[in-house]
Amino acid sequence: MKFYPEKCSIQDESMKSFIDAGEIHDLLKNTQASKLRVRAIIAKSLDKNRLSMEETAVLLNANDPDLIEEIKEGARNLKNKVYGNRIVLFAPLYVGNYCSNNCKYCGFKSSNKDAVRKTLSREELIQNVQALEENGQKRLILVYGEHKKYSPEFIAETVKTVYEVKKGNGEIRRVNINAAPLDIEGFRTVKEAGIGTYQVFQETYHPEAYTWYHPSGKKADYDYRLVSLDRAMEAGIDDVGIGALFGLYDWKFEVLGLVRHTNHLEACYNVGPHTISFPRLQNASAYDIDEKYSVSDEEFVRLISILRLAVPYTGMILTAREPWHIRQQVLEFGCSQIDAGTKIEMGAYADRKLPQLQDLNKEQFKINDERSLNEVIDELLDKNFLPSFCTACYRLGRTGEHFMEFSVPGFIKRFCTPNAILTLAEYLEDYAPEETAKKGWQVIENNKKDIEGFRDLEELDRRIERIKQGERDIYF
Ligand code: SAM
Ligand code: SF4
Repeated sequence: MKFYPEKCSIQDESMKSFIDAGEIHDLLKNTQASKLRVRAIIAKSLDKNRLSMEETAVLLNANDPDLIEEIKEGARNLKNKVYGNRIVLFAPLYVGNYCSNNCKYCGFKSSNKDAVRKTLSREELIQNVQALEENGQKRLILVYGEHKKYSPEFIAETVKTVYEVKKGNGEIRRVNINAAPLDIEGFRTVKEAGIGTYQVFQETYHPEAYTWYHPSGKKADYDYRLVSLDRAMEAGIDDVGIGALFGLYDWKFEVLGLVRHTNHLEACYNVGPHTISFPRLQNASAYDIDEKYSVSDEEFVRLISILRLAVPYTGMILTAREPWHIRQQVLEFGCSQIDAGTKIEMGAYADRKLPQLQDLNKEQFKINDERSLNEVIDELLDKNFLPSFCTACYRLGRTGEHFMEFSVPGFIKRFCTPNAILTLAEYLEDYAPEETAKKGWQVIENNKKDIEGFRDLEELDRRIERIKQGERDIYF
């Protein structure tokens, strides 16, 4: 697949703002969603082509219930056709919640005097990582407030510490970051620590709404945040995650903002975002947000389906902000990564006390899926999904793997599925209770049938046997 430049009112230039709110409003106002057009656009996406902003606007304007079903069905087909049934699992680890910004929606905002502030000490960080490893986690995203305590050097140090922690057969093989935007030098520093993806969410792409929600602190500067991932790219981090916080402004506007951001990264760096996130606003300590733009469950599923079709090659992340019944639905429509076993209270993974009610003053926002990693895996297996902890491409330097998965015929069957099987086999050997293990081995057998012809099954079996004999971290 080739990227193609889309004519936009603002020409893309590295480090230059690229959002024209008027243009997005015009697209939403002036596109019509006829049956024929919507179907042609879905077919284009199923042919593995990126959609333009105008085409995405057509899908956003499809209000007829039958057409909405067709869009969802298109997303479901694309997901099955391109990605199969793997779901990548990870966990968030909050390192520090001091924050000098004042985002109106966030429990960590500086004006919230009820927030219990904490930065994990090195020892606490190690204990939390050990606890995560004991559960079977292999991929983490470290999360930080924006504060002078969390300098690039501090972030890099915490990343290195996480990689060093080994508990039993456990280890963290990929550390992603969600933190404040850095300058180019800062991004270089964290890159050297071996990070995976660097995520920065624009929250809302609408400049005026943005200014209203971010009244003070460094985050008040819309443009600085908008091109932060340009700075990451300039620093050599080509693995970046974008996102919008749904509920702050019109969801249709935000979808086009995300597509416009994707265009910008493609135009300037010839690589789109590694992942797109679409967190939906949740209750939080000192939360006082007008519900005017709140996104219903139905709209939420719709917007995810449209994003899947608009940027068919990118990874899509859904977090435990959402309750399980929504997560289940969305997995079908194109979401490829979820967190599991999530605790967002500072230091909670290492806390051996009996589970307690969520205390919003200790958390950034409320989460709605508190199940353990094994409970999530168990349920994924019941639905014949293939849980994966794979980190092979990134460790072999096969960067842009999400793009290869999408564009190289047979890549998933040659690499992704066998590697998902090997990481699941490790989990089943080391951490799964008997019942889960039984289901897991069955799902592995089912998936083997699917990769025949692409991968030497005898070699895969030999590797599974090596895992059973105690070898770890084997991948194709
Ligand atoms: N401080 C960094 C920043 O703002 O970029 C790190 C990110 S913050 C810890 C992670 C993300 O959580 C934010 O980018 C925002 O999208 C999301 N978030 C904040 N408050 C939220 C809420 N009340 N409900 C859901 N998500 C929220
Ligand atoms: Fe701070 Fe991030 Fe929360 Fe804003 S969203 S108050 S920057 S932690």
